[in-house]
Amino acid sequence: MPESPYLVIHPDRVRENFRALDAAVRARGARSRLRYAVKASPVPELITLLDAEGAEFDVASIGEIDLCLGLGVAASKLCYGNPIKKAADIARAHAAGVRRFAFDTEDDLERIAELAPGAEVECRFLASAPQSRTPFGAKFGCTPAEALRLLVRARDLGLAVAGPYFHVGSQQLDPEAWRIGIRQAGAIADALADKDIRVTSVNIGGGLPISYADAAPALSEIAAVVNAAAAEFLPETADLVIEPGRALVGNAGTIHAEVVGVRHAPDGRRWVYLDIGRYNGMAETENEYIAYRFVTDRDGDPVDEAVIAGPTCDGDDVLYQRTRVLLPTTLRAGDRLQILDTGAYTASYSSVSFNGFPPLTVHVSGAERE
Ligand SMILES: *Cc1c(COP(=O)(O)O)cnc(C)c1O
Repeated sequence: MPESPYLVIHPDRVRENFRALDAAVRARGARSRLRYAVKASPVPELITLLDAEGAEFDVASIGEIDLCLGLGVAASKLCYGNPIKKAADIARAHAAGVRRFAFDTEDDLERIAELAPGAEVECRFLASAPQSRTPFGAKFGCTPAEALRLLVRARDLGLAVAGPYFHVGSQQLDPEAWRIGIRQAGAIADALADKDIRVTSVNIGGGLPISYADAAPALSEIAAVVNAAAAEFLPETADLVIEPGRALVGNAGTIHAEVVGVRHAPDGRRWVYLDIGRYNGMAETENEYIAYRFVTDRDGDPVDEAVIAGPTCDGDDVLYQRTRVLLPTTLRAGDRLQILDTGAYTASYSSVSFNGFPPLTVHVSGAERE
């Protein structure tokens, strides 16, 4: 058994998730393209598997571009989707063969036109969608009016206009969010058509949720909203691009961890300390945004509330103190536990060695060499 903590990824589950989503959005008729957001889990086996399934890849840095190309993914399958990039990175991406870029400012657009001439571009706008569990706030996206202006400018700069692009925020629990974004994207596409610019795709981003401690709407429910809104608001000739991260890999991973200690602290509460925390894999417990489920060998014993904390000497390394988490009262040091649905945004978020704790190790099930 590997040393605790570690993450086990089940590739078969990722394949199933990909095929289910692909089938659900294909109902629309026009072409749908799934683009995996590599940052959710940049595990080589998963990239190779999704490449074979026909996925494209959303990459955010030279590191992610090199990772995909090194695994044999064709450069034509990559979209440099991060609106925040240095001129030097645009030039390097272009030299590596990347021909598709997203942007949300005129500055970035002009740099792309100069350093990746003729590239295809998507403009990210900030949709008026309700907040998601892990919101982007106003970090990305221009206004829809600015997106229209910038996509016209893109054409004038000799770039190929792909179309508008939005992301409703990760772990978005309200299917209506996509309808709002698609309606806004459709209005941009219509206004572009009036200027003789036909969009070739509309990118509706990621954000598809999975169920954690609280249930998320089913994928089929969201797909139905997306398909209906696309039919109502988008030009028939435009591809629908979807950029799932969490929805493909989240439920394909389980973290195996261990209880380091249990104590009743001066605040009167029971604190359970694990060998995994905010800095070695559980970054998404920041603000207690994501409520993971725990399974222990003592499940079935009486339970009581507990504060869950990580192993480092950092005061912020607490997973849950406001969220009500119930754990067996019999839990003690040395007990093993599993944290479910931890395939997305865990291992890749872990720090290199904060406080001397190594990054979370990843085991791909079925890939053992012995
Ligand atoms: C992170 C990200 C995604 C994936 O988001 P999920 O919520 O994991 O589906 C998609 N597109 C872009 C540009 C991203 O940054």
